[in-house]
Amino acid sequence: MLELRPTCENCNKVLPPDATDARICSYECTFCAHCVDTVLHNVCPNCGGGFVPRPIRPSTNWKGDNYLGKDPASTAVRHRPVDPKDHVRFSATIRTIQPEHR
Ligand SMILES: [Zn+2]
Ligand SMILES: [Zn+2]
Repeated sequence: MLELRPTCENCNKVLPPDATDARICSYECTFCAHCVDTVLHNVCPNCGGGFVPRPIRPSTNWKGDNYLGKDPASTAVRHRPVDPKDHVRFSATIRTIQPEHR
């Protein structure tokens, strides 16, 4: 199950469970869409993988207790700002070997 982390790791923007601009990598490193597009260029600074939009967990108990009331979002903030210069170098290396990052 996703943790639904509360903020963007880079800029600390609040990303509530219903945020449509939350992006996650396969390890659930969490960033806002703005940082993914303008700073990270779709390369996760922690694992080198790509990002997808984070799905929204319902706040309403539509079915079988699968909702935020039973499985609340994480409140553990991870603020690890990315050095844009380091990241340009890192992401450039990955782009040359992983075609999906072109
Ligand atoms: Zn951000
Ligand atoms: Zn990652």
